[in-house]
Amino acid sequence: MFDNSLGLCLGRHGDLDFFGVLTDEILNLCNACPIREECEEHGIQNEEYGIWGGKSEEELANARKNRKIIVNKRRNEPMDRKRKENPVILHGKIEGYRAETYYGMEHCAACKKTNAERSAELREAARERAMAA
Ligand code: SF4
Ligand SMILES: [Zn+2]
Repeated sequence: MFDNSLGLCLGRHGDLDFFGVLTDEILNLCNACPIREECEEHGIQNEEYGIWGGKSEEELANARKNRKIIVNKRRNEPMDRKRKENPVILHGKIEGYRAETYYGMEHCAACKKTNAERSAELREAARERAMAA
């Protein structure tokens, strides 16, 4: 059974938003985490929501799709999302993705695409920084 209390994110769930978009801070934390691989695998196998092992929701969903894994149980859905009738959402922008998360909405294809591209850029920049160091 995966136990993320052994992870570097212990105590950081208040100041870092693991249900939001991937950030440098989260990526660095996860990349340095001793249980990163187990965390990612747990995310792929079990979690429809959130960042696990430094991978965004889209990246985890893609890995699931490639490996034909289906998550049966909806777990860890954030409980404190604000619900609002017809909020204004800038679809296709990272603000749109954030707003969809905030309002507990399903992410639209355009926002998912933007978030996936952003995660990939962030990962690439981190790789380049690591290579330069
Ligand atoms: S990989 Fe990231 S999300 Fe997973 S336990 Fe470690 S710090 Fe937490
Ligand atoms: Zn959208």
